[in-house]
Amino acid sequence: MNLTPMMKQYMEIKKEYPDAILFFHLGDFYEMFLEDAQKAAPVLEVTLTSRDAGKLGRIPMCGVPCHSAAGYIARLVNNGFKVAICEQLEETAKAKGLVKRGITRVVTPGTFFEGPPDQSRNNYVICVAPAGAGSYGLAAADVGTGDFMATEFCGPGARERLYDEVFRLQPSEAVLPEGAKELAGLIKAAAPAVIGFYPEACFQAARTGEALAGYRKKGDWPRTQTGIGRCGGNGDEEERNGGRRSGDLSSECGAAAAAAGALAAYLKETQKRDLAHMKVVSFYTPGGFMLLDAATRRNLELTRSLQDGGRRGTLLEVLDYTCTGMGGRRLRNWLEQPLLSPAAIERRLAAVAALVEDQALREELRSGLKKVGDLERLAGRLAYGMANARDLLALKHSLREAARLEEALARAEGLLQEVRERFADLADVVALIERAIAPEPPVALNEGGLIRDGYSAEVDRLRAVRRDGRGFIAGLEVKERERTGIKSLKVGYNRVFGYYIEVTKANLSLVPADYQRRQTLAYAERFVTPELKDYEEMILGAEERLNALEYELFAAVREEVTGAIDRILRTARAAGEIDALQSLATAAVKGNYRRPQVNAGGAILIKEGRHPVVERFLGPGGFVPNDAALDGDAQRVAVITGPNMAGKSTYMRQVALIVLMAQMGSFVPAAEAIIGVVDRIFTRVGAGDNLTSGESTFMVEMNECRTILSGATRRSLIVMDEVGRGTSTYDGMSIARAIIEYITTHIGAKTLFSTHYHELTDLDRMGGVFNLTVAVREDPTGIAFLYRVLPGKADKSYGIQVAELAGLPPEVLERAREVLAELEAQHSMKLSAGQRVRAMQLEMFPRRDEHLVIRKIAEIEVEKLTPLEALNLLADFKAAVSGTRQRRRGTRGGR
Ligand code: ADP
Ligand code: MG
Repeated sequence: MNLTPMMKQYMEIKKEYPDAILFFHLGDFYEMFLEDAQKAAPVLEVTLTSRDAGKLGRIPMCGVPCHSAAGYIARLVNNGFKVAICEQLEETAKAKGLVKRGITRVVTPGTFFEGPPDQSRNNYVICVAPAGAGSYGLAAADVGTGDFMATEFCGPGARERLYDEVFRLQPSEAVLPEGAKELAGLIKAAAPAVIGFYPEACFQAARTGEALAGYRKKGDWPRTQTGIGRCGGNGDEEERNGGRRSGDLSSECGAAAAAAGALAAYLKETQKRDLAHMKVVSFYTPGGFMLLDAATRRNLELTRSLQDGGRRGTLLEVLDYTCTGMGGRRLRNWLEQPLLSPAAIERRLAAVAALVEDQALREELRSGLKKVGDLERLAGRLAYGMANARDLLALKHSLREAARLEEALARAEGLLQEVRERFADLADVVALIERAIAPEPPVALNEGGLIRDGYSAEVDRLRAVRRDGRGFIAGLEVKERERTGIKSLKVGYNRVFGYYIEVTKANLSLVPADYQRRQTLAYAERFVTPELKDYEEMILGAEERLNALEYELFAAVREEVTGAIDRILRTARAAGEIDALQSLATAAVKGNYRRPQVNAGGAILIKEGRHPVVERFLGPGGFVPNDAALDGDAQRVAVITGPNMAGKSTYMRQVALIVLMAQMGSFVPAAEAIIGVVDRIFTRVGAGDNLTSGESTFMVEMNECRTILSGATRRSLIVMDEVGRGTSTYDGMSIARAIIEYITTHIGAKTLFSTHYHELTDLDRMGGVFNLTVAVREDPTGIAFLYRVLPGKADKSYGIQVAELAGLPPEVLERAREVLAELEAQHSMKLSAGQRVRAMQLEMFPRRDEHLVIRKIAEIEVEKLTPLEALNLLADFKAAVSGTRQRRRGTRGGR
């Protein structure tokens, strides 16, 4: 026995889409067969049945009704599946034999925009193109909003920077060349993306040019590319003047273009339509913004909390007063990509300041923005041909409100004025929709009711005909009751028989001769008359023609509106930017923030700074403000000591957040702030203090430290929170000391380093290192936290006092005090022993190579000294060779 013809058709189509669940349109259902059915049924919670398929015998099958397919598709996609939609391409009635079918779209996790869980963020699909010599191209697109961008990473650390960028974008889908299986691990570690592979050829220059035909460039595309794998480089003067920056993308062949080309090809293949809203690819360099690696983003809780990955307790939550979807996404984007140029930052700050000062304007903008819908996503629906009449009305309404925003900004200056000028004139689109679309149209497009009266003479005529017919029928019941004398006579309608006159059995004798019997019920008979049939035909005929004509007219209007998609997107983005600016202004007013001064100097000076998130959590007056002063010189590296729970972590993060806020163009929670822009912020949390359980191993901590030590520059800000805690005390202390020394002498980055090793406070002998401590008040009843950060050092960690606060049993506390006293006594004995050997050791280490600090410690251990002795020796040795040694022997180890 052979396959049934339909199953043969199915198999042929399925062969092309092996990795997607195939939705096979069959009557009123989408059916799934074989493995697809077995995989999908449990996810969709539908019954798995079976069907006779010829030689295959009975095969597994399940199905979902077409009219509610969207929800089922969402479910599959959110579970990481792709769904290939296979439609009937001709009407069943008209088909000769088997209905023609074909795939109309493959819905994938990264291209599903009909119901992303969070409208305030983009849903990206990315392509990564490895380009040899350890460089990579990366392209990302959000088909819902039309964003399409590309970048590339080359040179040392390219892989890490790729990872950080993927972490920032959090794509839900990644497409990689078939050969690059090893990249899958990197992507998966950075984001919960579904990974797909795509033929390597699609990432090659030849195919790339073809795929990018018709795409335009935006941004500074790298100027010199002789082939995939060459990125950046010094620009060829001739090409630079040749204006290669704008225009067609198909001539590009660098790594970024390879990724963009592959992505364009993938979108074409899966979406199977012209994506009119994403014809521009922006090139950007992550290095053009403040670099924030994945661990730093996580630790600073910028957009996701450490606790549950949600928005609560994040900086974004505190700053987000946006009123529109595009504004929300824009603000998030600013927060994720703080600026580097003081001039650009100042421009944003000036716009925020203008809105802070002008309360009336701010409120006018806010109330206007609230009425503007998500124009970017409306543009996406237009591009997909999915917009219905209600979407067009929403568009009209939003565009009108957008025009009012533009008016409200008439007298604005600077950036606000510049953004205002980006609003496009869309009066024609508004007028067209106003003229053509009915005020309260249905969702469906095939039931009429779409077109406004007066727009089309033919629509009006058909509506009049239908109205007349209905009027006649409405009057018929009264007329016939009079004529026949049957008081209970009724005129009704059903789908099978159309209009009818119903007479109960008791009155059948009164039925006139011109009634024709159509249907017999238990209690009544149903009749028609020739006249009734005529009117029925008139009504139904008019209706059928109306529905078809209205759809046609609607489609033409929609197409014309789609033609304005570039203008709509321009307006959408301008409105989004206004929204983000007013959001920062609103947050500044609500949070009592101040405008920072941003410059290119190397210093950070903060007066009465607060932590924006903790402050809000504690409520008014609950937060104790603190100053901060860091510079590239004497105040370069702060070693912060103080008991647990004193506020060290909060203080360090608040400094980092204030710098970041300033560079995104936001006001800051401080009485005064002067911020010399930083190129990167790094934060590391010691493994022992890391809240993200699961990955808080010491190895992770050390890996992260390597990233800092290799990536930080003089212009960076480093926050290290109890680094070195994840191992034994001496190990940890050695590493912490070596790291501080290395940063101070080799990097010179502004650094905040909190530690429990108060031994490290003697590092202030080095130029550039200074001590800070958090004040506590100790009295016989225990300790009280004052949360004041002051110069100086803590001489102990108050661990036992904190344990007492936590209510540990008195026996334990007492014993702990005993042990501590013993240890401290031993410690000072060892110190003096160390001092005795020191003179000899100094001569044994004549090398000046400070890179080998950690190895040297190991060497000393081999010589059977205790680690602490080794440490002291090392510190003295270093002080001696750098010539800054001070005669302070008396103070060291003298406890
Ligand atoms: P540490 O890192 O020193 O152990 P944290 O920074 O984690 O301390 O702070 C512990 C708690 O103290 C915070 O959760 C917060 O509630 C409170 N706290 C910290 N800093 C302040 C401050 N400046 N003003 C008021 N409360 C603070
Ligand atoms: Mg802490």
